[in-house]
Amino acid sequence: MVHTTAGGPEEDTTAAAAADPALLTAELARAWDALVATARRTVTDGLVVGTSGNVSVRVGDTVLVTPSGVPYDRLAPEDALGVDLNGTRVLGTLKPTSELPMHLAVYRATDAAAVVHTHAVHATAASTLVTEVPSIHYMTAALGGPARVAPYALYGTEELAANMLRALRDRTGCLLQNHGTVAYGATLDQAYDRTAQLEWMCRVWLTASALPDRSPSLLTAEQVEAAGNQLRGYGQQDR
Ligand SMILES: [Zn+2]
Repeated sequence: MVHTTAGGPEEDTTAAAAADPALLTAELARAWDALVATARRTVTDGLVVGTSGNVSVRVGDTVLVTPSGVPYDRLAPEDALGVDLNGTRVLGTLKPTSELPMHLAVYRATDAAAVVHTHAVHATAASTLVTEVPSIHYMTAALGGPARVAPYALYGTEELAANMLRALRDRTGCLLQNHGTVAYGATLDQAYDRTAQLEWMCRVWLTASALPDRSPSLLTAEQVEAAGNQLRGYGQQDR
């Protein structure tokens, strides 16, 4: 660090604020509360058992992330945990989730403000059967197209993060083979909702595929694209 003006320790205010939870900004505190609420929701809604998923949210250059191995109902405001985009801890004392490489890879490559990772039952089951979630429903379009399945790699590794990033190209959600889901969004609610939609679609496909001697009808790429065009105008009165 080079200061061109007369410097002293008091100039390092940015680093000091980031490292001291007592100086947690109101914005980071609000984001942490929202992150904890979303993480708890993944458990109460049945997308995650115990601490097997993880959630993150980006505030400026800080990524708040769930810690490794702490049940979400025990997370308090003082447990706020943040890293920079290189994974260096800038806030808190707990150990970040082992899946930090996946979260950081999404933030480096996209405009995401939130990432949700789960081991949701139907999505994980589907990840063992296909390389892409079949277009069973028009909500396929809400994720940018059929969700791909990232090839298996050991959890927590850069290899898994790289496989995930390839599967996320032009998509806002994907499956991880024999592992679970990843979805991102502009908000925690959006990332959560995409995760829930992905799990729901996998459930529909598995349910429809379960009858012997029958296979479900699927939508064409054109039908999914048309739905996507309509979804983009969703909620606007003049469309
Ligand atoms: Zn996982």
